[in-house]
Amino acid sequence: MMSIWCPTCALTQDPLAWCCERCGGTLEVTGPTVTAEPLAASGRDGVWKYRSWLPDVEPITLGEPTTPLLRQDWHGLDVVFKLEGALPTGSFKDRGVTVLVSWLAQHGAKAVTIDSSGNAGAALAAYSARAGLTCHVFAPATASPGKLRQITAYGAELHSIPGTRQDVTDAAMTHAETTGDIYASHAWSPLFLAGTQTFAFEAWEQLGHTAPDAVVLPVGAGTLLLGIIHGYTALHTVGLIPHIPRIYGIQSTACAPLVTPGPDPLPVTPGQTAAEGIKIATPPRARAIISAVQATGGRIIALPDDALWHSHTTLTKSGIYPEPTSAIAPAALPHLNLTGTVLIPITATGLKSPA
Ligand SMILES: [Zn+2]
Repeated sequence: MMSIWCPTCALTQDPLAWCCERCGGTLEVTGPTVTAEPLAASGRDGVWKYRSWLPDVEPITLGEPTTPLLRQDWHGLDVVFKLEGALPTGSFKDRGVTVLVSWLAQHGAKAVTIDSSGNAGAALAAYSARAGLTCHVFAPATASPGKLRQITAYGAELHSIPGTRQDVTDAAMTHAETTGDIYASHAWSPLFLAGTQTFAFEAWEQLGHTAPDAVVLPVGAGTLLLGIIHGYTALHTVGLIPHIPRIYGIQSTACAPLVTPGPDPLPVTPGQTAAEGIKIATPPRARAIISAVQATGGRIIALPDDALWHSHTTLTKSGIYPEPTSAIAPAALPHLNLTGTVLIPITATGLKSPA
C-alpha cells in the first residue's frame, strides 16, 4: 500500500498533503523501489520504463523519452552531458511532474497550484492539461517571458507576482489555502523526488550499468540533486552499482544558502543572477540536501555569473544550447579537482530563456 508520511513524526498523511499536518516538515513516500531482479517490462521508454520501481500510479504521460547523453572532453576531463531539454516541456522537471500529477489525479485532485520561476510551472501546466486538471501558476514578474508564454499556452492561469521569490511562494500558498486547490510544489513533494530518481536510473543503463565517478549539477530547491542521490543509493543498496557517485551541487554566489560549514542553510538575501532556476533562498529540504551531499563525499560551492556565461559560451560553441542556469555546473569543474567520468545534467533547453 502506497502512502506518504512524515519521517520526523512517523505519521501517515493524507495522500494530497504537501507537508506534515503535525510538524509542517517535508514528507516521504513509501512503496516500490529498486530491486536486483531485471526491470519488469513496461513497454515504455524514459521515466515510465522504471514504473515497477516508482510509486504505484496509472501514468499520465507526455511520452517522456530517455534523454540523450553526449560525451565530451572538457579541459582534459571525461564529461558526459545528459540533455534534459529533450523532455516534453524542455526541462528535467517533467520527470517529477509526470509522477506527481499521476498521483494527484489518481487521488482525486481537480485543481493544482504551484510557485515557480518557470520550468516547474510549465511542466505542471502541461501535465495538468493532459490530466484535465485546473492549474494555477504563481511566477515572479521577472521570470523569463518565454517560460511564462509556455505556461499560459497550456491553458494554466498565470499569476505574475512582483516582489521577492518568497512573495511568490506566499501568494501560491494563500491561493491553495483559500480555494482548496492542491499545492503541488516540486520543492516539497516526495512524489516529485520519486520521479527525478529516474535520471540516475537512465544514466546507469546508458553508461553500461555503471555509475559515473561524480555528478555535478546546479542546486536550488535540490529536487534533481536529491532524486539523483536517492536513485543511485537505491541502485547501490541492491548491489547494482559498487559505489555511489560523489555529488557536487553548484549555486550562484547571488543566492547560496547551501554553501555552509554546518548542517543548516545560511540566511541569504538573493541578488541578481542569470541562474534564475536556482535562486531559492529557503529550500524546504535544505538540511537533507546538505547532509546527503556530504555523505557522498561531494560538496556544494557557489560561482558568479561571469563563470556561468564563460561556460555557456563553451557549451553553445559545442552545439549545446542550455538555459543559463544549466551552464553553472560545467563552470565549476576547474574548482573541483575531479578525475574519472563526470556526469552533468543540462537541466533545460535555452529556447525557454534566450540569453
Ligand atoms: Zn511531522
